[in-house]
This record gives sequence, C-alpha cells and structure tokens, in this order.
Amino acid sequence: MKSITVALAGNPNSGKTSVFNLLTGAHQHVGNYPGVTVEKKEGQCIHRDWRITFVDLPGTYSLTAYSAEELIARNHIQEDRPDVVVDVIDASNLERNLYLATQIMEMDVPMVLAFNMSDLAERRGLKFDLDQLSRLLEMRIVPTVGNKSQGRTELLDAIVETAGAERRERIHRVTYGQEIEDKLLQIQQALDRSDGDVVARYGRRWLAIKLLEQDEDVMSKVHDQKVLEVVGRSVVHLRTILGDEPEIIMADRRYGFISGACQETIQNSVERRHDISDTIDAVVTSRVLGLPIFLLLMYVVFFLTFKIGSYPMGWLEAFFGMLADAITSHWSDGHVEWLRSLLVDGVIGGVGGVLVFLPNILLLFMAIALLEDTGYMARAAFVIDRIMHKIGLHGKSFIPMLIGFGCSVPAIMAARILDNRRNQLTTIMVIPLMSCGARLTIYALFIPAFFPPHWQGPMLWLIYLIGIALGIVAAKVLRLTVFRGETMPFVMELPPYRMPTSKGVLVHTWQRGWLYIRKAGTVILAVSIALWFAMNFPKPPADRLEGRSAQEARQEGLRYSTVGRVGLAVEPLLRPLGFDWRVGTALIGSVAAKELFVSQLGIIYAVESPDEEAPSLREQLRADYTPLVGFCVMLFCLVSAPCIATVAMTRQETNSWGWALFQFFGLTALAYVLTLLVYQVGRLWL
Ligand code: GDP
Ligand code: MG
Repeated sequence: MKSITVALAGNPNSGKTSVFNLLTGAHQHVGNYPGVTVEKKEGQCIHRDWRITFVDLPGTYSLTAYSAEELIARNHIQEDRPDVVVDVIDASNLERNLYLATQIMEMDVPMVLAFNMSDLAERRGLKFDLDQLSRLLEMRIVPTVGNKSQGRTELLDAIVETAGAERRERIHRVTYGQEIEDKLLQIQQALDRSDGDVVARYGRRWLAIKLLEQDEDVMSKVHDQKVLEVVGRSVVHLRTILGDEPEIIMADRRYGFISGACQETIQNSVERRHDISDTIDAVVTSRVLGLPIFLLLMYVVFFLTFKIGSYPMGWLEAFFGMLADAITSHWSDGHVEWLRSLLVDGVIGGVGGVLVFLPNILLLFMAIALLEDTGYMARAAFVIDRIMHKIGLHGKSFIPMLIGFGCSVPAIMAARILDNRRNQLTTIMVIPLMSCGARLTIYALFIPAFFPPHWQGPMLWLIYLIGIALGIVAAKVLRLTVFRGETMPFVMELPPYRMPTSKGVLVHTWQRGWLYIRKAGTVILAVSIALWFAMNFPKPPADRLEGRSAQEARQEGLRYSTVGRVGLAVEPLLRPLGFDWRVGTALIGSVAAKELFVSQLGIIYAVESPDEEAPSLREQLRADYTPLVGFCVMLFCLVSAPCIATVAMTRQETNSWGWALFQFFGLTALAYVLTLLVYQVGRLWL
C-alpha cells in the first residue's frame, strides 16, 4: 500500500470542510497548528491501494504573508510538501476562487481542482467547458457537491492519478508582462548565485515573484545582500515605469489570466463582475463591433505613423541631402574621388536611407506601446484570434504581421510578444511575405510602366493579397510540418485597462527605437559599404571607357563590377523566369535593401543624352519587357530573399543562423518556383 498526504486548500465558504468530511468520513482528529490558535484538522481514508492522509488547510483568498491563515497554508504547502494539493473552489464564483488556484499553481505542486458547489453553479445557468479549463490549468478538475457527498470516487481517483503521474513542466502560467518578467529573470539569476538552500526549498521563480511583491516573510528568509539589492532596484524601476506597486500590477495580471480562462470556458457568465473594464470589453471584444473597432484603430495607427511621420521624414531626407551636398561641394575636384563616392553614395545613401524611416518607426512603436500599456492589445489579439487560430497561429501573431507591412525588421522584433516558441518561429518565418514599405518603391516603378491606369490600383491590391495569402498558406504548412505540434489552447490574458504612464510609453518606444538605430549603425553600415565596393570594383580598364559619355561609363563600370558580373553569371538561371542580367544585377542589390532594386535599375539604364527628350526609365522598361515579365519581377521581389537587415534580425531573435538561412533560402526557392510557374504558364496564354 502506498501512502500519500493531500492538503485541502480553498476560499472560506467554498465547502472545503464539507469536501474534507466527504473524503474522510469519521476518521478525523482536530488539533492546533503549533503556536497559533488556528485549527488543524487531519483525516485519513483508503482508496484502492493508496492510504491517503488529508490535511484541511485554513480557508484563504490568497497566499500573501498578511494573515496568519495565509502563512500557515502557504508554509504547509512549501515546507511539508504534500503529494497533492486539492483546491476546493466555489464553482458559482469561479473567477474569484481561481485567484488562489493561480497562486498554488505558482508553487509548482501537483494539483487537483475540486469543482465544488457545482449544483449551485448549474442552478444559476452557468455552463462550463471543463475539458478546456482542465487543459488550460493543466490539472484534473472534478465536479463535486460537498454537502451531498457527490463526486467522492471521481475526486479520489483524480488524486491518486495525479500523485502517480509523471511531473511535467507547466506550459500555461501567469505571465507578468515584459517589464516584470525581465526583472523576475534578473532576480532569479541573482538567486542562482546566492545560497542554494532557500532556492532549493522554495523554487527560483516563486521566490523571485514573492521578492518582487515585497513579501515580508520571504524577504526575511533571503539574506543575500546582492539579491536584496537587485530586488530593491527592480521595485523602484517598476514603480516609476508602471506607476504602481509591482504587487498590484502582478495581482492584475493574475486576474487577467483568470479572466481570459473564464472567457473561454464559461458560457453563460452571469456572475462576471461588471466594472468599467467589463463594460468596455463587452463592446470592444463583441462579435459584431470587435473587428470594425480593431480595424479602425489600426487605420488610425497607420495614418499617424505614415502621415504625421512623413514630416520629420522629409526633414531627415533634407538633412541627409544637405550633408551629401556639403561633402560634394567641399571636396576638392579629382581628390580621392572614390572616397567621396563611398561617403556620399555608400554611407549616407545606405545608412541615411534607413534612418529616414526612424520617425515612422518611433511613432509606430509609440502607438503600439500605448495600445499595449492600456491593455487594448490583449483585446485586439482576442478579437483576431478566431481567424488566426484557423491557420495555427496565436491571435497575437497578428500584431507583428501588421507591422510587417511597414518593415519586416521591427515586425520580427515584435514577434517577441508571443510566448510560445513554435508560434514565434512560424510568425517570424512568414513576416517577409507581408509586403514591406521598401518593396512599394518597386511596385511604384513597375505598375505604371506596364499597366493602364484603371488596372494600377487593383494590381497593387493583388500583389499585397498574394503576399497575405502566401503567408497564410506558408504558416499553415509550417505548422503542419517543421513546427508541428498540437495547437495548445491558450489563455488570452485580459488584464484590466489602465492609464499608461508617460515614462513607461517613452521607455518602451525608446528601447525599440534604439535597436533600430543600432542596426542602421552596424549591419546596414557594413552592408552598404560592402555593396558599394562590389558595385564599383573592379574598375574597367581605361581603354574600355574611351570616348564614352559619363553615363555610359557608369553603365560599363557596373557591368564590369563584381555585382554586374554576378548578375551576368546568374542570368542563365533567371532566363526561365523571363529576367535578363539587368534584373539579375538589380535583384542582387535588393538583397541589401529592397529599395536598392530601383536605384540599381536606374543606374543600369542611365543613358547618355542629357537632353529632356531622353526616354524615362519606365519607358525603357516598357520597351524591353512585356507586362508578364513586369509582373513576374514584382512577384519575385515580393516573395524572394528578405533583405540583409531582416536576415540579421531573424538571426538575432531566433538565436540561430539555421532559421535565418532557412527563411532566406526557403523564401527564395518559393519565389523561384512560383515565378517560374507564372511566367511559363503565362507565356502560353498571353
Ligand atoms: P468551508 O468554509 O470552505 O469549510 O465551507 P463549509 O464546508 O463549511 O461549507 C459552507 C456551506 O456551504 C455549508 O452550509 C455547506 O453545507 C454548503 N456546501 C458545501 N458544499 C456545497 C455544495 O457543493 N453545494 C451546495 N449547494 N452547498 C454546499
Ligand atoms: Mg471550514
């Protein structure tokens, strides 16, 4: 016979004593917890071949250190380590009762939920999806009616099963938001370096949480000054950023977790609290208004980002233009000409070309920080989740994808909000299919060149739609193959709305903006310089340029350069797609940045005659290519290799060159196959 001990926890009046009696019958004895006048009841029962000792813990709503009952309950679980904790909850009051459950979950003990008062809940018209709730909370749930002795055998079965089951790490737990989670991690790292005794007994995460909550009991148990210093600093930091005590924010997040779980598992929640948050939620997440409100808000965000952002963007463009002019005019003629070109065309052109988007990026991030900090983002994800779930992604994936229409780099960064790695990776892989702003310059050149005015709008739409459709299909395929795994049900957290602090928003905006600036200063700077060299060297011998105009010489120079040679070398490979060496050369340039495709073509097509009659680039393209080729170029640019900055960001965020290269070559292969199909089939038809 195996012996186990089981602790009964629960809110006062949840029917804990009734369940205790139901389980143990008359085999009980009552004592006192040492030193306090809190009654301690123990009882026994035998079930199958298990001898089970039950301890009835004092009824509590929470597990803070503020009352003797809570401390007793908590210490019993932490120090006596029962084999199973049964949390008796009043099902007719689920949200409030689950608060204690989230705290016991954090202590990392095997748990069973006794869904007591289930008769009352039923009478009130509540319907629960207990299977779903059980998956979300990762524990067995057994409906019981304590005063009528219903559910005894099922509860005992669940207890011995849980006691005998292998322990698995939790997938769902309350997450406290980026800021707090960062601090929790720092505290845990400090704990790792301190005395292992306390850590081993209480667990790192639980200790870190309690320390951040400034729990007196735990504070008195941790003596390491370094740890306490980290805690002190973290609390001060969070207080200013969040504008509230960490303890309060953390309680909010627990309720957010519960609220999300209830929203997904209770059908007729007449018992839901009706405070302001709920009233707003009723509108914002409603089936009818939810999506339009979301789309409207997103429209406002994009309008702000691109319309208002266009002013400072203009100033920055003017600034870099002036800088380039200043360098050019102060450069004494013929004096290390290549260095001037490197500075002006390479560095200012490359880095400046990226930095001009900084205002847009900052505005976008500010809007996102605002939406996140107020709590709306969680709702938006909730609204869009129904659609995203179908393609095997989390509702939150929508946000990075949306940002992807601006630029893939911040979008990939934004995929951090996904806490499930499979979801994060899938999202990152398909983000480049959301046609970014840089690719718009290519469409802006090609569409008017090949299509009559009334076709131009629909054409642009079509390109964007192809990207979205491919993204959806690719995500689905990835989820079925590379990132296979059951789609975990998830708890959509619905934290209460709160007023964001200006400091919090600014810090969030700046942190992300700074990453962008750093990228421009490092990766993009390096690539711009390298590309400049590849486009300018080796130089053709002087006799090949004899008698040619400056423009012709540039063209010849490019043909002769590394980039031009590679373009010529890959031409046979691109022929079946309808592309020639010119497109090939421009495509190579576009790996550095998609905008470069257009400027590369411009250089290649640059012609001698300075007179006004010279055919425009569009006219030349029209003369050289058919509309089918034009379309194929756009299609290829849409799908193919993401730019170098995107690759670098994918590498950073996935922490693996493998995934970055998988994305790079996977998308390029997809682009090749698709374009080949379209071109070859199109040629038969047109
Ligand atoms: P405790 O404070 O958690 O120990 O709760 P008790 O076991 O003392 O029960 C409080 C009250 O709820 C008592 O009047 C019980 O008869 C009643 N009760 C307990 N379980 C149930 C149940 O499942 N359904 C209903 N309707 N009443 C219950
Ligand atoms: Mg009692």
